[in-house]
Amino acid sequence: MLKIYNTMTRKKEAFKPIHEKLVKLFVCGPTVYDDSHIGHARTYISFDIIARYLKYKGFSVFYLQNITDIDDKIIKRAEELAVQPIDLARKFENRYLEDMSTLGVENVNFYARATEHIPEIISQIKTLLDKGFAYETENGVYFDESQFSDFGKLSRRKIEELNVHRVEKDDNKKNPGDFALWKKKDNKPNWDSPWGIGRPGWHIEDTSITEEYLGVKYDIHGGGLDLIFPHHEAEIAQMESVSGVKPMVRYWMHTGFLNVQGEKMSKSLGNFITIRDLLEDYSPEVFRFFVLSTHYRSPIDFSKSALEQSKNSLQRIYKLTENIEVLIDSEIQEYNDNDRDYTNKLTDFENKFLDALDNDFNTPDALSIFFNFIREMNKGIQSENISKTILMNISCLLKDIEAIFGLKFFKEGIREDKIKELLELLVEVREILRERKDWELTDLIRSKLKEIDINLEDK
Ligand code: AMP
Repeated sequence: MLKIYNTMTRKKEAFKPIHEKLVKLFVCGPTVYDDSHIGHARTYISFDIIARYLKYKGFSVFYLQNITDIDDKIIKRAEELAVQPIDLARKFENRYLEDMSTLGVENVNFYARATEHIPEIISQIKTLLDKGFAYETENGVYFDESQFSDFGKLSRRKIEELNVHRVEKDDNKKNPGDFALWKKKDNKPNWDSPWGIGRPGWHIEDTSITEEYLGVKYDIHGGGLDLIFPHHEAEIAQMESVSGVKPMVRYWMHTGFLNVQGEKMSKSLGNFITIRDLLEDYSPEVFRFFVLSTHYRSPIDFSKSALEQSKNSLQRIYKLTENIEVLIDSEIQEYNDNDRDYTNKLTDFENKFLDALDNDFNTPDALSIFFNFIREMNKGIQSENISKTILMNISCLLKDIEAIFGLKFFKEGIREDKIKELLELLVEVREILRERKDWELTDLIRSKLKEIDINLEDK
């Protein structure tokens, strides 16, 4: 049975979605003012694998992400570059989507832009004002944290820790920790509202979007560890105050940071590597494998040596799949006396592998079980005691693992041994042409091969 660590209870809990076979999943999307770095990628790859595994287990998954396309950081960057904020946001949203697609992150059903949900945002703010959870000042509309007795329940912070000035410093706020729902702003982009022209606060965009597409209560809310406070705490305060339904989410899931020398990779620290830069040197598969090698809640230290290790591990898997394909095409026995023994081994491996993933998506444990299995299967292949049927079963298992991890173990296109055979055939044909003294064609074959760096010497 699948167990998920719930940040709210700090415990692993049996996973029971609200609807038996449907999982509604929301993960905070990026603020699109620059290219995404590999820390972002760590979080989004982790949730992609979580969505894949839920699907493998037979759930339908509706996975929603928001795109923060209006924010002070976007406006500042657009000013620096002398472009329109919305144009800047669209450009980096496209680049983000391209990066995700390259990395095989392909399970998000819908990306919802903040700027396309202003009416929903205004409606939630109105409800909060009507119910006495919010108030208006000269500068904006704020959530009154003193009205929400559960404030701090996710981050387990005490009121003194919550009640500190954060982003908005407005002397008219009732409590220093109150956060903006609407900011009255004259500069564009801004929108009309019952409280004058302005822009929404950051937290309200998420709850307005989730209420619209997932309802007032849904199954999983995810994001990086840094979002627990204040962002997710604020989301709970808003949504549970708007609806009166508690809890707004059954399972809160948070990814650990991708660090560089012990420090979180971030734009502000300047210690970041963009996804695009990394992919100049390493394949998307290697980076995905690197992410999988650590549990999603643990910190992951970025280093070239760890990436090299991932590359080598992938090579071992590719070698196995290649050997399996060659053997399946060969003249080996369909069945043999070892089949029962191998079938037991396969079942045992499958059970252990899935148990590891059922244990809060423990990918490093699953990988170590996988590599023990690879070692054993390689031994079997070397001693030539595996039948074709067993090899086909191993192939099927490997294809399931490919789907769960979003990796490709079986090479697409023509295999190396087939390429060799093809070249030998070409050389043979050319020999016949030479005997027939068809110099035009023999030279053409040689020069075409040279174009693809294959030098043919007549001896
Ligand atoms: P942002 O655009 O900064 O809001 O970040 C988008 C998502 O990436 C959030 O869920 C963050 O928690 C996550 N994130 C940002 N930096 C890192 C990092 N170094 N490691 C893991 N996740 C991160």
